[in-house]
Amino acid sequence: SIQLSNRVQRVKPSPTLAMSALAQKMKAEGRDVINLGVGEPDFGTPEHIKLAAIAAINDNKTGYTAVDGISELKQAIIAKFKNDNQLEYAPDQILVSCGGKQSFSNLCQALLNDGDEVIIPAPYWVSYPDMVLLAGGEPVIVEADQKHHFKLTPELLENAITDKTRLFVINSPSNPTGVNYSYDELAALGQVLLKYPNIIVATDDMYEHILFNNAEFSNILNTTPELYDRCIVLNGVSKAYAMTGWRIGYAAGPADLIKGMKKIQSQSTSNPTSISQYASVAALNSSQDCIIPMLVEFKKRHDYVVGALNAIDGIECLESDGTFYCFPNVSGLIDRIDGVSNSAELSEFLLSEKGIALVPGSAFGLEGHIRLSFATSMDNLEKAIERIASL
Ligand code: PLP
Repeated sequence: SIQLSNRVQRVKPSPTLAMSALAQKMKAEGRDVINLGVGEPDFGTPEHIKLAAIAAINDNKTGYTAVDGISELKQAIIAKFKNDNQLEYAPDQILVSCGGKQSFSNLCQALLNDGDEVIIPAPYWVSYPDMVLLAGGEPVIVEADQKHHFKLTPELLENAITDKTRLFVINSPSNPTGVNYSYDELAALGQVLLKYPNIIVATDDMYEHILFNNAEFSNILNTTPELYDRCIVLNGVSKAYAMTGWRIGYAAGPADLIKGMKKIQSQSTSNPTSISQYASVAALNSSQDCIIPMLVEFKKRHDYVVGALNAIDGIECLESDGTFYCFPNVSGLIDRIDGVSNSAELSEFLLSEKGIALVPGSAFGLEGHIRLSFATSMDNLEKAIERIASL
């Protein structure tokens, strides 16, 4: 057998993608599987965005583009930051990449030296720790439990900082918990970060637009503008516009950091797909009303799922502020099922015995929970809840 690199041996495959693949395989074999593990909207990409892509193909806009993105898209991103977030950027502060995933990967590769520490609050998006490891960095996981609404407190942040800390990652609204940091909560974290000028701050705002329950989006740069010269903002079109397969994410930050990330991208993938870039211009520059029907649907499903889960013995679920996830505490359920002693075993049990696919909390760095995605029909959600309630 072939001996693989030490680098690849440091990481594991994405557990969320693995769960989705298994659920799809079981379905293909004719099993009745309800997939609550998906990390993407169950809607089609809005029509005007698709038409922009078709026009790009017909106009032969199908060659290589600038590595960091076409200027129309960079301008659309600059306008988006200005209008939505009151943040000012110049074109050399913007890098368009193949999904938010590549944005974060470029950041780690451009910033981290071996042994540099990266503070990642748990529960976290599954890919952060592994991308840090691939870049030679050391993830420092700081747990924020349900009692704290899964949010990092200033004390927890400060306790995790060492002289090796290079990067701090914050993701709000959060995958997997659905919680959104308030302005004041971000301001408090910002006060801690001001004391440590060597730490770069990455804010992953991928779910910015998927908010309900009157939650309002803030970025840490709104509360603590002094961080501007060492903050990188990550965002993308994947979740807000149901465009996960198009693979467009973007980063905005200090020009020298963006330049380093661009160099990494130029020697790995080059530009993201030209057609997807033109589609993303339409997504950002057109009316944002196309998001509203998706939000209405997510909110309706959220209310049903959270209410129904809380009615089940052994499950406690917080309301989400946004996203299409909730992250219930299922320790009571784990306790009462024979042969099940943690969230991974519960997930396996639910898949094999009840045909429900979802992702164990351990994949996101917090035991005793599961992540449930409501990016599926109300019918499916009702069926799934019925099966869980019958346990
Ligand atoms: N950031 C978070 C918090 C996510 O949940 C995801 C996708 O699951 C991404 C980034 C990456 O998105 P993309 O599909 O654009 O790579």
